[in-house]
Amino acid sequence: MNSQAAAGAVLTIDLGALANNWNWLRKRLRIGAELASVVKADGYGLGALQVGAALAKAGCKSFFVARLDEGISLRKALGRGERIFVLDGVLPGTALEFSHHDLIPVLNEPGQIAEWTAKADGKSKAALHVDTGMNRLGLSLAELEAQAPRLDRAGLCLLMSHLACAEESENPKNAQQLERFNQMRRLLPPLPASLSNSSGVFLGADYHFDLVRAGVALYGVNPTPDLPNPMTQVVQLQGKIVQVRDVDLPETVGYGATHKVSGRTRIATVAVGYADGWPRSLSNRGFGVLDGVRVPLVGRVSMDLITFDVTGVPQGAVHPGAFVTLLGEGASVDEAADAAGTIGYEILTNLGPRYFRRFVGG
Ligand SMILES: *Cc1c(COP(=O)(O)O)cnc(C)c1O
Repeated sequence: MNSQAAAGAVLTIDLGALANNWNWLRKRLRIGAELASVVKADGYGLGALQVGAALAKAGCKSFFVARLDEGISLRKALGRGERIFVLDGVLPGTALEFSHHDLIPVLNEPGQIAEWTAKADGKSKAALHVDTGMNRLGLSLAELEAQAPRLDRAGLCLLMSHLACAEESENPKNAQQLERFNQMRRLLPPLPASLSNSSGVFLGADYHFDLVRAGVALYGVNPTPDLPNPMTQVVQLQGKIVQVRDVDLPETVGYGATHKVSGRTRIATVAVGYADGWPRSLSNRGFGVLDGVRVPLVGRVSMDLITFDVTGVPQGAVHPGAFVTLLGEGASVDEAADAAGTIGYEILTNLGPRYFRRFVGG
């Protein structure tokens, strides 16, 4: 028996759709701007090595990861050539690892600059992160003014900052951050600059600078939540039906007896649960698609199982081994996220290790 047949659910990742998304987004950039790919958190849960290789093949030359160890693994997978930036930057004692693995640290605070310039070999490159209003990572304006004279030894190849509200095109915070970023740029000698994530692309060419760091849009999540999704869906998640049963009044379904049936009801139990990253907050709120019919998730999400009311589905389509689509045609990542009270980023990065993963279109 193959492992796909032995798994409870199949996660299909369409590397062709991913490459299309990268190309589509790249064409929206200001002429001369580069589109980098953010593949942190294992490529937003989809597999950083496969995703990274597919994007490199599509023409992507720069990648961002969060952790040093993510950078080391990605470097092994990609070989030499593409640039790999590490957003955490130089944590104490790690400076030499960056040159060793040909990784570019994003220097976030004065201690990182000191650590880096003390160890830097004069050839290794680094990026500098300045804070323009996110108050998470990066130098403040005062820190930048103080550090500026010391930065000529850091081998800087990029100045970057990060937007807090990029997906809200009307939010005045965007223009404030843009202005602050331009102000901070003027304190340094000319350097390639980067401000935008996926959503920043849609704020206009002023926000593109020399490089855009796109993550979530590449993976098919809507970067413009107030408008229809321009991206192509990349993931499909299909859970297998384990058992079908008919229940009638006055029965209830699942833990806590939270779903009371209102009459004769057919329930399909599917082999996906919160241990697979399917959010427990989808209890009585989620849905799936079976034989083209949208079926509500009823009762609580349990560790290994979820239950759907499939009363409205033609009987022949409801049997053990049949697939209920949780993500895919008729079930977008954004819709699942809305129902769960979260964001597409979290749905993707929680996709669990028990799924059988299939890469297509590569
Ligand atoms: C995660 C991240 C990105 C990518 O953001 P998306 O919204 O997924 O496009 C870009 N820049 C930084 C600093 C990040 O942390």
